[in-house]
Amino acid sequence: MVKYQIEGRGIRDRAVLDAMNEVPRHLFVPNKLRHRAYNDYPLPIGLGQTISQPYIVAFMTELLQLNGKEKIFELGTGSGYQAAVASRVAKEVFTVEIYSELARSAAKRLKAIDYKNIHVRDGDGYYGWESEAPFDAIIVTAAADHIPPPLIEQLAPGGRLVIPLGGPFSVQQLILVTKDSKGRVMEKPIIPVRFVPLLGH
Ligand code: SAH
Repeated sequence: MVKYQIEGRGIRDRAVLDAMNEVPRHLFVPNKLRHRAYNDYPLPIGLGQTISQPYIVAFMTELLQLNGKEKIFELGTGSGYQAAVASRVAKEVFTVEIYSELARSAAKRLKAIDYKNIHVRDGDGYYGWESEAPFDAIIVTAAADHIPPPLIEQLAPGGRLVIPLGGPFSVQQLILVTKDSKGRVMEKPIIPVRFVPLLGH
């Protein structure tokens, strides 16, 4: 998977490649889909939600330019796979999932593989995780029609945020949001993507 789907498409960050090799993706998909876990596409994880395609997980993680010291917030835990990958290349991950059933199973899975630097909570991630802010990086894994203002507030100066922007039934743009040391915010479209819609708020 890593050699052809990830490295082959230009991901060069060694820490991200190592994380993609290390995290056992087959443990994050439903049992009956395990034989397809390492294939080049997203898979259903129940409740109409999906685990992202491996390449997109690697791509979004690389965009954050992590060095191992960061505190990260993720909106949309889903299976917990993106959080698991991010946790290998950052210090701590705080992730929120709107479906308590998914939050519970992701937390259980992450405990079973002993990834201790990930904190899962159920709730509406639109509001971030205020008591843990600011975050050096933020990953939104559901498509929104705007960037949630609480997430911009909770992004540290010098921080990076990635979010798919656009309607639920169309192709969205993955946007990289950066906040400079003076608190100025810039947005840059990166690639077209397709994510499940942001719910709640
Ligand atoms: N990062 C996930 C992929 C998740 S798909 C993984 O690696 O498996 C997007 C997830 O976002 C879904 O599980 C969906 O239930 C969740 N979601 C949608 N809107 C949300 C919101 N407002 N707050 C928290 N989670 C939300």
